[in-house]
Amino acid sequence: MIDSQGSDMTRVLLLGGTTEAGLLARALSQTGVDGVYSYAGRTEAPVSQPLPQRVGGFGGVAGLVDYLRAEGITHLVDATHPFAAQMSKNAVEAAGITGIPLIALERPAWQPGPGDRWISVQSGAEAAQALPGEASRVFLAIGRQGLGDYAAAPQHDYLLRLVDPPTVALPLPRARVVIAKGPFRFEDDLALMREHGTQIVVAKNAGGEGARAKLEAARELGLTVVMIDRPRVPPRPVSATVQGVLDWLHGPALSGTDRGV
Ligand code: NAP
Repeated sequence: MIDSQGSDMTRVLLLGGTTEAGLLARALSQTGVDGVYSYAGRTEAPVSQPLPQRVGGFGGVAGLVDYLRAEGITHLVDATHPFAAQMSKNAVEAAGITGIPLIALERPAWQPGPGDRWISVQSGAEAAQALPGEASRVFLAIGRQGLGDYAAAPQHDYLLRLVDPPTVALPLPRARVVIAKGPFRFEDDLALMREHGTQIVVAKNAGGEGARAKLEAARELGLTVVMIDRPRVPPRPVSATVQGVLDWLHGPALSGTDRGV
């Protein structure tokens, strides 16, 4: 956005919390675009970003609208995780109210390939129901949120991989916690799953590269993956690439492959 003096007035609010958001923050900083990176504040030591940062919820749609106006934001980029559906919904609504253009930076969903044994489910509750009745060794690779769904299947030995050590009692009586932050490597996930004796993997269909290794390891070991499909979010323009977002910010229409709703 160029003002009457020829200065670029673009100011981006980047809703983050993902690897892709970090890549976009770096690209914005390198190209001198003004912006703010927003974290929800879920992890203890979020990765430092090359843009000014803010942390914490906005206070729903109304709070986000206020923030966008108060901060003089001209463009809103939703680069949150595909499972952060509430934030994405709020962003669509706030963009509609303020007239501020919105784009989502979203990695494509993973697709099963030859050798994959996936069971597709729509929610964590469905994933818990899809687990076998007999006690099994389950790599519950879903992060911290949604663990309560699996309290309905307490007989399993769960392997949890979390960014921070849990600060409250886990809702699962038989759980082992590994503290680790992605990106993860195939060899490491294979070794972890062999050591745990994993029989089933539960995953969210996050897409992207950083968390794909567990799926490749499951394929190698011939294991079933209970794959939780992405939650629905309202239609909005989507780019799968950082470059697509930069093109959108600087004016030209998105290329055909990058256009989406
Ligand atoms: P969510 O359920 O969609 O959001 C719940 C609330 O958290 C939002 O309404 C908003 O609060 C606040 N929020 C979420 N993302 C925010 C952001 N980037 N900046 C400021 N406030 C934010 O989200 P979630 O699933 O809890 O995910 C939280 C964050 O973790 C997201 O930033 C996401 O990118 C990241 N993350 C999530 C997952 C996952 O599996 N869900 C995995 C990896 C990373 P207000 O309504 O008060 O504004």
